Amino acid sequence: MLIAKDSVVSLEYTLRSDAGETLDSSAGEGPLVYLHGYENIVPGLERQLAGKQKGDALQVSVSPEEGYGPRDPRKTMEVPRSQLPPGAPQVGMMLRGQSQAGDIISLWITAVGPDSVTVDGNHPMAGRTLHFDVTVLDVRVATDEERAHGHVHGPGGHH
Ligand code: ZN
Repeated sequence: MLIAKDSVVSLEYTLRSDAGETLDSSAGEGPLVYLHGYENIVPGLERQLAGKQKGDALQVSVSPEEGYGPRDPRKTMEVPRSQLPPGAPQVGMMLRGQSQAGDIISLWITAVGPDSVTVDGNHPMAGRTLHFDVTVLDVRVATDEERAHGHVHGPGGHH
């Protein structure tokens, strides 16, 4: 069975930077299971997995445009510590905020000062080329319910 829209795909993967540094891996958490064709993974990886099958191993490089997007330097700002949720802020922490348009946005703390922190609305992997080593462990047809929800149920999935 070839990977196509409405396939449920199980993957092992390692994600590396241009410098070869490991940024993320399924090794600790177990395989990634996702529903293909619903933008559940970065577009460049999803596109290059189409047509692959169980047992295939591939190396995929994904440009920022097909990954987490380019970096926008205007998305960085200072926030007084008094406006932060309780608890000690740390570099790398993600906060939920609201944009001026009312959308829920994610912000990552990039620096902590005595009175304020610097937050960045860019995803930490924005602007990076992503290098994946991927092995396809399994491919199956999604259930009607999974297709309706746009995500996988059962082991590795939601609910
Ligand atoms: Zn569901």
